[in-house]
Amino acid sequence: MKPLLHELARTKPLLGDGAMGTQLMIAGLEQGNCGEEWNLTHPDRVLAIQRRYADAGSDCIITNTFGGSRIMLNRHGSADRVVEINRAGVEIARAAFNGRAGYVIGDIGPFGGLMEPYGEFTEDQVREAFEEQAQALVDAGADAVIVETQTSLEELLLGITAAKKASAPCIIGSMAYDVTLDGSTFRTMMGIDPERAAAFMVEQGADVIALNCGTGMNMERAREAIQRYKRVTDRPVMAQPNAGLPKLVEMKVVYDETPEQMVCGVVPLLEAGANIIGGCCGSTPEHIRAFRTVMDQYFVHAK
Ligand SMILES: [Zn+2]
Repeated sequence: MKPLLHELARTKPLLGDGAMGTQLMIAGLEQGNCGEEWNLTHPDRVLAIQRRYADAGSDCIITNTFGGSRIMLNRHGSADRVVEINRAGVEIARAAFNGRAGYVIGDIGPFGGLMEPYGEFTEDQVREAFEEQAQALVDAGADAVIVETQTSLEELLLGITAAKKASAPCIIGSMAYDVTLDGSTFRTMMGIDPERAAAFMVEQGADVIALNCGTGMNMERAREAIQRYKRVTDRPVMAQPNAGLPKLVEMKVVYDETPEQMVCGVVPLLEAGANIIGGCCGSTPEHIRAFRTVMDQYFVHAK
């Protein structure tokens, strides 16, 4: 039996994967189309991306199911395929490891709207959508469920509760912070700071306290967030920053941090106590490969 992800993460730093969305675009997905449907229509292309991450040394791969909840899929007319799309997402990520014992993290992203009284969705609709997705991911054999790119505690709670109800072996809560205009600090769009988010996640039973994506959240900001998490909790913590900032080059969105630049932030993140490190938007297999090299050296020295 392999150890639970959050147990293994306490014994040595683990490497996550890099971006999926920007990689799908490179593989031909058009803006506005449904990347999660590719788990059924183009499984070979999703597998090729994830295999590059596995080959680069990822210990954990996040499924291509960010928008795999009923509410998100409904925007593409695929609400009747929630279970199939999520199951295929887990199977493809598992296949990417090619028999190696990696961890498949089932991905639940935001439902993409606002709940009443601010928006059009009821809490029940969101709860049901997350429960259905979490159950599909766990039934398909996911080793963990990550509720990611979250900005409100209400939505985060629905995701964590759904993962719990589905008996996910490991539950990761991951917030998206934005650096404030004056650059002095960062908080989520809904005004939540890292200490509050971490305390809330611990209280609600998340096994790993994470952050990903966000505006201006580079490796240095991620290190600060990890430090602030560690003041509140001794649970494993995880960081997946973007590869710098998005820029429009020839009508295409590219991220401006090279693997060489981004990798400079890996040791500081490890020293701050990060247990799992990966990348969000704009990070590539080359970024992850660079992380692997540095993490292996660090681990050897740390022993
Ligand atoms: Zn991102």
